[in-house]
Amino acid sequence: MFEALAQYPDHLALEGEILAWWETEGIFDRLREQNRGGPRFSFMDGPITANNPMGAHHCWGRTLKDVFQRYKALQGHELRYQNGFDCQGLWVEVGVERELGLNSKREIEEYGIAEFAERCKQRVAKYAEIITDQCRRLGMWMDWDNDYYTFSDTNIEYIWRFLRECHERDWLYRGHRAVEWCPRCGTSLSQHELINSYAELTHPSLYVRFPLKGRAGESLVVWTTTPWTLPANVAAAVNPDAEYGLTKSLEWWAVERNPDAELTGRVRGRELVGLEYEAPFEHLPAQEGVVHRVIPWDDVSLDEGTGIVHIAPGAGAEDFELSRVHDLPVLTPIDEAGRFYKDYGELEGRSTEDVEGPITVELERRGLLVEAGSIVHRYPICWRCSTPLVFRIADDWMIRADEIRQPMLDANATVEWTPDFYSKRMDDWLRNMDDWNISRRRYFGLPLPFYPCNSCGKLTVIGSLAELRERATDGLEQLQELHRPWIDEVAIRCDCGAEVRRVTEVGDAWLDAGIVPFSTLGWQSPEWKEHGYATGAAAGLTGADLPDHAYWEKWYPADWVSEMREQIRLWFYSQCFMSVTLTGKSPYRAVLTYEKLLDEHGREMHRSWGNAIDAAEALENIGADVIRFMFCEHVPSQNMKFGYGPAAEIRRRLLTYWNSVKFFVDYANVDGFRPGDEAPGELQPLDRWLFERTEQLVAEISGQYERYWTPGVMRAFDSFVDDLSNWYIRRSRRRFWNSDEVALWTLHRALLRSVQVIGPVMPFLADFLWLRLRTEDAPVSVFLEPWPEARPRHEELLREVGEVRRIVELGRQARGDAGLKLRQPLRRLVVQGAGPAQRHSDEIAEELRVKEVEFAPVEAMEVRVKPNLPLLGPKLGKELGAVRSALEAGEFEQLEGGGVRVNGHELGADEVLVERRAREGWALAADDALTVAMTTELDDDLRREGRVYELIHRVNTMRKDAGLELTDRIRLTLPASDADLLEHADWIKEEVLATDVATDGVSEPEIAKVS
Ligand SMILES: [Zn+2]
Ligand SMILES: [Zn+2]
Repeated sequence: MFEALAQYPDHLALEGEILAWWETEGIFDRLREQNRGGPRFSFMDGPITANNPMGAHHCWGRTLKDVFQRYKALQGHELRYQNGFDCQGLWVEVGVERELGLNSKREIEEYGIAEFAERCKQRVAKYAEIITDQCRRLGMWMDWDNDYYTFSDTNIEYIWRFLRECHERDWLYRGHRAVEWCPRCGTSLSQHELINSYAELTHPSLYVRFPLKGRAGESLVVWTTTPWTLPANVAAAVNPDAEYGLTKSLEWWAVERNPDAELTGRVRGRELVGLEYEAPFEHLPAQEGVVHRVIPWDDVSLDEGTGIVHIAPGAGAEDFELSRVHDLPVLTPIDEAGRFYKDYGELEGRSTEDVEGPITVELERRGLLVEAGSIVHRYPICWRCSTPLVFRIADDWMIRADEIRQPMLDANATVEWTPDFYSKRMDDWLRNMDDWNISRRRYFGLPLPFYPCNSCGKLTVIGSLAELRERATDGLEQLQELHRPWIDEVAIRCDCGAEVRRVTEVGDAWLDAGIVPFSTLGWQSPEWKEHGYATGAAAGLTGADLPDHAYWEKWYPADWVSEMREQIRLWFYSQCFMSVTLTGKSPYRAVLTYEKLLDEHGREMHRSWGNAIDAAEALENIGADVIRFMFCEHVPSQNMKFGYGPAAEIRRRLLTYWNSVKFFVDYANVDGFRPGDEAPGELQPLDRWLFERTEQLVAEISGQYERYWTPGVMRAFDSFVDDLSNWYIRRSRRRFWNSDEVALWTLHRALLRSVQVIGPVMPFLADFLWLRLRTEDAPVSVFLEPWPEARPRHEELLREVGEVRRIVELGRQARGDAGLKLRQPLRRLVVQGAGPAQRHSDEIAEELRVKEVEFAPVEAMEVRVKPNLPLLGPKLGKELGAVRSALEAGEFEQLEGGGVRVNGHELGADEVLVERRAREGWALAADDALTVAMTTELDDDLRREGRVYELIHRVNTMRKDAGLELTDRIRLTLPASDADLLEHADWIKEEVLATDVATDGVSEPEIAKVS
């Protein structure tokens, strides 16, 4: 007996059941054991930040990773299954700050950096556990006890080695420049952290007068949206080639920016260069000694503002560059927290936002304000805490990118990207990448191992913990792990003999993630160290080993990685940068990337908008298989709409598959059928077709998995389920009623194969069904059964039945368009364009309920051609009228390619509008190759037969509603008005399993079970 299936699948219950069963049976361990020593498939997991529970969007990548790992394992590959957690940097720090109610660096320092670091570690441990549970629930098979944690000392040491390598190549430098800065986080941000991190913000829009010295009453007018930068103004820039005009109120503007003004004078910008002016805040101590003057700048835009730009080199990137060219003083008005320094008078201690009002009032009071308004514009914000960014001058540690750029491009050329155009996106990023700003002025992050010496000027970069120990002069005894504050206590000896201390900066978190192809695989590690990866902050959280170099040789580079598209400028980039630096090679051979998750209405998901869906919530409500199905079906290069509506639709579609399995189980059990290896008799044509169709499914799906293309997998599965249910099973129903074992055998084989190939996508459902369908000698889990081998296929047979199905589909469409139910038989069907389907006229007749099938040109079609006026009007001129009449009268000849010949003109396909319609009395549908037409006229016989079909349908529904078994016989009583149907009594009896049919004084048909 096969275990019976419920009417509907309870996805949540069956997933719980299978999850527990995998655990108790140790299925995953058995799979790993089975594949040990097999060909390697190296997958490198991009670390997930252990800072929050997963959102629904995380399930996308996790699903894809699991799908392809399962597929490769089913093919017999050995895999590593190491999961990774990202553990340090701003994400985690900001999370802990919120937890503790801290909101500035000062508060963190008051709280204590050691305690803060402990809280960061606790937070990581907590969320790593939650994420692990969620991933298991999603069905993800990973080596959960051996995860890598990027805050491990080993990971940090590997980054140190990379940084030392950069130093040896002279790529490391301390950049002094204007950078985007988050005043809340108190640190600069790098280029890759800025992209897409913008908000629509409202800022003041001020037109301000700068009175010119020695030109009585004349002023420059500048425009600014950042009034806080005015106190740091040192120059005003004009476009040397643009024309400037002096208005009647003695204001200088670019003429183009103030075209309606009446002007009393015009000059080129270059004539204004060198003029001196009074800056609005030159009385402040910080401004002492600054001579404010007009400078030339080719990039002054004439698209906005006044054509005169106020320059504050301490508060803008381009301004800073100009300060170098023109030797301008650089005034840095704000500190790390974005507050004004002491020498800014009244502004001291206030934030850039706080001073907007007072500055505007002051300008107004002194008659310097021409106009004040506000502007809504796209403005950069901190990607971690959403605080608007400002510019300030900082000394950041940078890695020069120029030398590595071409080698990285070369490495990228070896990578196979899916979808392939992302390869170009990566190239674009690499071509435009700036030097890598690797320093953050924060606490819980990779400690940069930089020890600059004040005595001799040498920068020592420490490359390992051993080296640190060797050179340390102090502080080793308290060094519990390579983090602040402990690492800051360790001083080292410079070559010159001086004692030097580490810089206080920590590193960009993308260094942490980028090094994992080296740190987790044991690059240049002389020996295998048990738990050698689980060091420092990671000790106790994981058992991960540090493998030896031979292991790295085996597993590097990764065969495949998969993350979302934004990782092009993040993990794919940092990994590639570090890998090309250390080995000259790309760290991955193939990449699958995917876009963003939106809510079901297409809006971005945000917790604050109330439309974000947590992974936990999605898993509890939708179930893992359906979520995985949704992600796999979606084309990854498009944003995906995710929600409960789309999920319900998938469940509905899955029901067809479920019903097919249930159909088999029900009939197999009625007949006590036991499937063997060989068919229990000769296959009929339809069986042979399903046999071939199943082979085709295996080949198609395998091909799509090989391409890392899940939408192709789902398309192949969908169309197979349709063929299985709506063709094979439906066309074979009668054989199942008659306990035809060959049909059962064929169906069983098709179901088993389909369960196997869809297993990677829906592992729970697959194993649930496998457990019910498998034969006794088969492995208990579908994941222990080797992948089915593709065999040569009978393509002709597949094409033949494909064509039959297409004809039937078109016939149904024609019926639908004409409002003719399928239960109403029709007289005649004509098919034009059919090839091998002609051998199947009986099946076609039966499927479309027609009496006769003819393969011939369809005379039922009427072709109407109209001129495409916008094109033909100009072309034909006054001849258009005659052409139009000829077309209307049908006096034209159709040409190959869709054009027509009319009145001596040849008109192209785009110049005419061709309509194909059925003539009166016909229903018609066509595609490119086939035209299918049916007569619609009904006679009494056809009407009566139509009523019989309705009756059969109705009675079978009544049987189902009455809870009758498939084999129960009934007695059927009809109202007297249906007496004429008794002409078809035998037919009716057979279809509804009735022992007799009679009429009586009932008003509706009645059934009674025969005991
Ligand atoms: Zn921030
Ligand atoms: Zn020194």
